[in-house]
Amino acid sequence: MAWYWCLEHHCVEESLGCGSSSRIGPYDSEAQAQNALSRIHEREKEQTARDESDEKKYGKKRTWW
Ligand SMILES: [Zn+2]
Repeated sequence: MAWYWCLEHHCVEESLGCGSSSRIGPYDSEAQAQNALSRIHEREKEQTARDESDEKKYGKKRTWW
């Protein structure tokens, strides 16, 4: 059984879900799929913290290219 987190409907869906292309996964369990989004948010938080510390170090935001 494969589980996905659907970004469109903000819920866990089985492999035969809505068929939206905006799904994260597959995951082995429903719980993992549910955690997927919070893990992404955590990573974003880390990235934001890193940007802020870079800002202090270099006096400006890192430029991405
Ligand atoms: Zn969906």
